[in-house]
Amino acid sequence: MAASLTGKQVAVVGGGPAGLACAARLALLGNSVLVFEARSSQRMQEQPPLPDGDETLAQLERMIALGRIRIEHGRKLGQNLDLSELHLCHDAVFLGVGLAAGRVLGVSGAEPPGLLDAGKRVAAVHCLEDLLALPVPHRAIVLGAARSAIDMAVRLKRLGAQDVTLALRHGVEADGYVEQTARAHFVRIRPWASPLEVLRDERGGVQAVRFEQTRVVDGRLTHTGGFTEIAAHAVFKAVGRAAPEQCERDEQVARISREGERVRVDDCLRTALPGIYAGGDCVAPGQDTALALRHGVLAAQAIHADLQS
Ligand SMILES: Cc1cc2nc3c(=O)[nH]c(=O)nc-3n(C[C@H](O)[C@H](O)[C@H](O)COP(=O)(O)OP(=O)(O)OC[C@H]3O[C@@H](n4cnc5c(N)ncnc54)[C@H](O)[C@@H]3O)c2cc1C
Repeated sequence: MAASLTGKQVAVVGGGPAGLACAARLALLGNSVLVFEARSSQRMQEQPPLPDGDETLAQLERMIALGRIRIEHGRKLGQNLDLSELHLCHDAVFLGVGLAAGRVLGVSGAEPPGLLDAGKRVAAVHCLEDLLALPVPHRAIVLGAARSAIDMAVRLKRLGAQDVTLALRHGVEADGYVEQTARAHFVRIRPWASPLEVLRDERGGVQAVRFEQTRVVDGRLTHTGGFTEIAAHAVFKAVGRAAPEQCERDEQVARISREGERVRVDDCLRTALPGIYAGGDCVAPGQDTALALRHGVLAAQAIHADLQS
């Protein structure tokens, strides 16, 4: 039976066995999932059948019917899909792009994707000091409900940003901390707004963020189908401080990528980048459907547990 909704939203890139298994399990655990697949739906049906007795496709259909999974076809990471933006707009990202990983993830550089991208003016920032390394925008949006998000919004105001909006997928927490802090520092709060995409101008600069409005129905956070855009020159998300072992793993990722290998993950399929997970052929040396399915499920369980903690 499907668990009640958590209000968390996860992006899955790749609709192969690993991605579909991950999406189905995440949805079963109560999360909303958006699957981005490069191929058309017709081409996806051409893929080899899953092993006899496997429940993934049946589960997937149930979860799609419940509205917990949506699949967008023709969305290709590296072409019309950007990892840093996925990371900003979702609580977690699972990469199941198969053998294309090395080509599309861009993990080969020294700088991990999605964490600090001053050039594109979207950044998921480990610690507030990182903000000092970025140009101060005139108008900024900070995504996220945690205290680190309001702290980041205040820091941006102090650094000289004129107009800072803190966008929350939920309502404002009852303890009043966020509201009081925002009022004291002239930070605007926009509750009930779930980020969908970063809109850019013709030169690729950040222009606005598109949100879907949310509300609580029967105690569950639901998307209303109403959309709104908030203008901004930059978008930020707080992702927490990197642990010391994280830095070590970042180096490992860089080293592995330089050798042209696949994405390095820990036992729970977490990459070195907080909030980004990977599984299937893009992490496993052998090519095996059953293993890809297991990876999808294992990653979903890890993502769900990490988002609940
Ligand atoms: C010809 C062939 C025969 C095989 N036979 C067997 C077999 O008999 N038994 C067995 O166990 N295994 C077999 N395998 C291996 C098995 O197919 C893979 O191990 C398994 O499909 C891996 O699943 P995955 O989800 O990790 O990756 P994939 O199945 O490769 O799925 C990756 C998905 O990501 C999508 N994608 C790729 N790049 C992007 C991007 N940039 N943005 C968005 N989406 C993207 C792809 O379109 C694809 O849908 C075979 C493989 C091949 C090629």
